[in-house]
Amino acid sequence: MIQVAIILSTGNELTSGRTVDTNANFIADRLGAIGVEVAAVMTVGDVSERLRWAWETAIERADLVISTGGLGPTSDDLTTETVAQVTGRKLWQSAPVLEAIRERFARSGRQMPPNNAKQALFPEGALIIPNELGTAPGFRLEVERRGGGKAHLVTLPGVPREMKRMMEATVLPWVGQARGHDKVFATRVFQTFGISESALDEAVSGLIAPGEGRVAFRASFPQISLRIVVEASPAEAERRVEELAGRVRQRVGQFVFAEDDATMEEVVARLLAERRLKLALAESCTGGLISHRLTNVPGSSRFHLGSFVTYANELKQTVLGVRAKTLAEHGAVSEPCVREMVAGALERSQADLALAVSGIAGPDGGTPDRPVGTVWFALAAGPSLVARRYQLQGTRDWIKLVASQVGLDWLRRYALGAPVIEAAAFRR
Ligand code: AMP
Ligand code: MG
Repeated sequence: MIQVAIILSTGNELTSGRTVDTNANFIADRLGAIGVEVAAVMTVGDVSERLRWAWETAIERADLVISTGGLGPTSDDLTTETVAQVTGRKLWQSAPVLEAIRERFARSGRQMPPNNAKQALFPEGALIIPNELGTAPGFRLEVERRGGGKAHLVTLPGVPREMKRMMEATVLPWVGQARGHDKVFATRVFQTFGISESALDEAVSGLIAPGEGRVAFRASFPQISLRIVVEASPAEAERRVEELAGRVRQRVGQFVFAEDDATMEEVVARLLAERRLKLALAESCTGGLISHRLTNVPGSSRFHLGSFVTYANELKQTVLGVRAKTLAEHGAVSEPCVREMVAGALERSQADLALAVSGIAGPDGGTPDRPVGTVWFALAAGPSLVARRYQLQGTRDWIKLVASQVGLDWLRRYALGAPVIEAAAFRR
């Protein structure tokens, strides 16, 4: 039975803070989705004694230990020998794996360096986990715990791409079976914007009883997702999760912009392309960030004409036709300015739809009636034009990011014919 897991992330680059541990993040997410509880994530450097300690600790406390890193060919790659030591297993060399590593080098016209032979060593009793994308295979090993019961050990390379593929292709299907029952997990995920994590929590509290399913929140700012997981027989799981999803939609549907893993820019891109709307942007304080995010989506040329990134007042005049008088009387962060920006962008690009943003990202430049975080948005389509002022909070990069998200959300709502989220939603 596999109920509780510990994730062991190894490497000096992690303990020194040079590399962010995205592996643990991915593994925890995937285990959670199939109902395996992650008791701890341990991070240890490439030091024999500490690795031994971590493995010993993890084995006694978890049914499943998944480690990443330390399977490379160099002397600081210690995972295999540590597992052998801790479990009292001898190492053996797999001839087929050694041959596969040789061939891998031969294919790129190189000879295998002697060091790489190490990657064909495995503790006795280990099952090899193939690595389609790199030289180091992983392995799985079942051991008796001193305290009774069994622990399953899984080792994977640190390279995220390889690790992910091995998780999906081999480890997760096996964990799914080894859980020891035939229940399946059905999940629904909701990506939200315009509601804080705590407000979202409050809004859905009591909606789903503990026995009906689990609710989890994740903030990947400025986007907050809510996931519901139902564990049930294969015949029932989908129906039940859909019923719970209906309740969530009813309660917080106005804040939901996607029901999958899509980002806001992907949703906007899909909608604008579907509706054959051509877009132009006029960006001041976001410095092109909205355009950047949209052009990260493949195929953005189908709807995105471009962005006028007019940071200086002179350029707002010459490029967008904002009047000198408007700037002198109201300033660049004002309703009249953002209205003229959006009108200029629409007219000069001949787009169907234009969005303009002008604000104060800080940390300087705020005034009592126009504090840092004041951002004006305007959207124009044909003869219609709306402008609103938002008061955002945070550091410069944060204000830029949230402003880009608000702007994208405006585009999304326009495409759907939905009202924009009022600025009040952004006051904490
Ligand atoms: P290794 O398998 O230990 O040789 O790791 C190979 C590379 O994978 C490292 O140099 C890191 O760039 C990356 N890596 C290792 N562990 C992690 C992790 N937990 N999260 C993200 N990247 C990692
Ligand atoms: Mg390493």
